[in-house]
This record gives sequence, C-alpha cells and structure tokens, in this order.
Amino acid sequence: MLDFSKFKSVIAVINHFNNETICKQTLEEVRWGDDVVCPHCGQHHCTRRKDGRFRCNHCKHNFSCTTGTIFENTKLPLQKWFIAMYLISSHKKGVSSCQVMRDCEVSQKTAWFMLHKIRGLYGITDEIALDGEVEMDEMYLGGRETNKHEGKKTPNNQGRSTKTKTPIFGMIERGGNVVAMKVDNTQGATLMPIVEQFVETGATTYTDEANIYNRLTENGYIHHFVNHRQREYVRAKDIHTNGIEGFWAHFKRVIFSTYHMVSKDYLQRYIDEQVYRWNTRKENAEFRFEDMFKRAVKSFDYTDVLSLSSVVSIEHFREYRLMYYNLWKSTHCA
Ligand SMILES: [Zn+2]
Repeated sequence: MLDFSKFKSVIAVINHFNNETICKQTLEEVRWGDDVVCPHCGQHHCTRRKDGRFRCNHCKHNFSCTTGTIFENTKLPLQKWFIAMYLISSHKKGVSSCQVMRDCEVSQKTAWFMLHKIRGLYGITDEIALDGEVEMDEMYLGGRETNKHEGKKTPNNQGRSTKTKTPIFGMIERGGNVVAMKVDNTQGATLMPIVEQFVETGATTYTDEANIYNRLTENGYIHHFVNHRQREYVRAKDIHTNGIEGFWAHFKRVIFSTYHMVSKDYLQRYIDEQVYRWNTRKENAEFRFEDMFKRAVKSFDYTDVLSLSSVVSIEHFREYRLMYYNLWKSTHCA
C-alpha cells in the first residue's frame, strides 16, 4: 500500500506520479487492493485484459480503474488531477481555477471543471453528530446593493436587506466539528429538522435572540441565547456564539480573497470545502490528500442497493442498480 505520508510537498507528488502507469497502478491499489470488483455488478470474478483494462466474467462489461470515479473519460493525464487534488487539500484558503491553470498547465476552463469535480468529493456526511456545547447561527452571502450595476439592482431593496442574499445555516460543537449548509430560508420550520438531524438531544445550544430558535427547548435541547440586537455578545462568560462567528469570518475571507465570487448554484460545494478544511484542521496535508484519494476512488456502493427492502427480484435489482448508479454518477461525476 502506498505510503501517503511521503507527500509533504507538491514536488513529492510530481516525482512519485511521474508517469501514467504509476498513476493507474495507484488508483487500482487504493480502490481495490488485490481484489478487483466490477463497478457494474459488484462481482469479484474479473480478469485483466491485454490493454490493461478489466473484464467482468459475470456481466461481461469491460472497465478500468477510473470507471465510476471523477476521472472517468478524462483526457487529461492523471498526474494533473493528482496535483490539483494536492493543491486543494494543502492550501488553507483553497486554490482558485487561475492558480490551477498555471500550476497544472491546463486552460482556466479545464481547471474550473477539475476543481468542481474535486470539490464534489467533500460532502456533508450524515454520520457527523454534534454534542456537548453547540453554537448555531445563520449568515447571508451576496453582494451589496450599492455595489451592483444599475441594471442589476433589485427595486425597493435598501440597506442591510437580505432579500437578494443566500442564507447559510451553521452549527459548531465547541472544540469540535462544523456542519453548514445553504438553506432556502431561515424559518424555524426549515432549520429545526436540520438541528434534529445533526445535534444530539440534550445538548446545550447557544444562539442569538432570533425567534426561530424558540422551539429548541421543547425539542429536548438546553437553550441559552445572547441578545445581539441589544449589543450583548457574551453573557456569564460562556454564553456566546463566537465559535460559529469565527467560522463565518474564515469562510468569508476565503470566498472574498481566493474565489472573489461564487454562484448560488455551486455555493454548497464551497461551503463543503471549507467545512471539511475546518473539521480536519488538526490534520496535515498528507492526510487530507490520502483522504481525498480514497473518496475519489470510492465507487458506487452496491450494498446500498441490496439492502433496499423494496428490491424483490433480480429484475428489480437491475432496475434499482441502474437508477442508483445514475444518481450516484450525477452527484459525484457532474
Ligand atoms: Zn460485472
């Protein structure tokens, strides 16, 4: 198994992955080890063909180590992908497509697509659970009306109005992980299910005075708040939301300094990237690179399909398999 701890710099990555064969070997090794699994049917009876690809003896499909991963059908050398992956996992504030364009010698458009595919590997995992002391807050992202071109201004929208901005909801366990996501609105009915999904019942929650948090107590949480409107930011030493505010400040700095602007459609990917970076802040670049590598080759998992109770026959299974594979592909390879 490849020892990722040696990748302490971009030079180490370039030196190791110096030809396409090594890149593919590493992909195969990290993806399957010695046991090649068909990405189409999940069976283990596969043989290597003369051209280096594999053939499944069960479903007769041909495939390679990139089938079903973000690298599928790529025309770029894998080395460039790995360098881009290293750059995004080692830079604390992320990398822009212009930077990747120069470092990997690709066009800016290609760099943009690569970065988005790589960013798609970070996603909120449902396994994250916040407990103990949890701060939560919402923030808005979007340009100021005063800075917009006359033709793009929204009528009757003044001052600090949030009408044209995108709300983001975030929760942080003190000394622990962050969960943040783009939301449609900041009403209690929208936010409460998210809180219940990620925060353990009985946890102590800290918020501002907004009445969207009124239902926290009746839903089984201990609730303290500070009144930001009355300029109260800390009460009795530990009642504050400074942790999550710190995350927002960091997030905004990255967006404004590295990416300058992000579109609403892709905002969640940038959030995921920063959340991931925050949650692995005690790890080094080598760890993040290895983790990203494993995420990149983690193909569609057939056990998910098999465990579906609605699958009653093999025909059903084939139907579901296709449906889930397409779904998986659209979220991971888009
Ligand atoms: Zn197969």
